[in-house]
Amino acid sequence: MAFSIHRGLLVLVNAAHPLESAEKPVLAPALPGSEALLDARAAAMLTGLVSRLGAVGEIVAVSGWRSMDEQRRIWDSSMLENGADFTRRYVARPGCSEHQTGLAVDLALRAEHIDFIRPEFPHEGVCGRFRALAADYGFIERYQAGKEGVTGIAAEPWHFRYVGRPHARLMLERGLCLEEYHELLRTFHYPGRLLEARGEAYEAEVGFLRGTERPELPDAPCQLSGNNVDGYVCTLWRRPA
Ligand SMILES: [Zn+2]
Repeated sequence: MAFSIHRGLLVLVNAAHPLESAEKPVLAPALPGSEALLDARAAAMLTGLVSRLGAVGEIVAVSGWRSMDEQRRIWDSSMLENGADFTRRYVARPGCSEHQTGLAVDLALRAEHIDFIRPEFPHEGVCGRFRALAADYGFIERYQAGKEGVTGIAAEPWHFRYVGRPHARLMLERGLCLEEYHELLRTFHYPGRLLEARGEAYEAEVGFLRGTERPELPDAPCQLSGNNVDGYVCTLWRRPA
């Protein structure tokens, strides 16, 4: 696959940075038996986490990957049903939704009726235990209260984004949303001083490479993701996850 700053686990997709890649991700059911689909890597980690909690069937994937057409349908029908104010707060414009990457999932606690746009995913019980482990499985709560001015989206305690383990941990520890994390990474320019990431089972260093050319990489296990803006995030594994 050709290198592109518009692909990878860390792409930033928001109103200012629409999804540039039209490539459909490799998809898998978000959870066993789920109709919602996710990028296969994200689906495997989500399934691992929910299985560990013994919550398959209790935690439900309401929405995962969406095509451009589907995002447009959701936008249009929300405009009709809920009006412009609500829709702009809770629904991303077609082309600007993280759901189009296949890396975002809306979760709900199983219930008779589940609200498609604003599902219930409480902070207590099994959902609380999910939140406590999410970063260890590479997920972040993407739209948190207090970050609306940065993300442009109202707090969505049900919307989780897969970014990979070291990044989810780094964002959680520093209280950063994805926009802020990318800003921080710009100050750790590869091959200079890098950001250290440590989890129970891994050690990594993270840095930023500006530019759109295929970068020169070290002869060590590493993972590259575009930021969908102006460069790549490079994750160097010192002890692989
Ligand atoms: Zn969502």
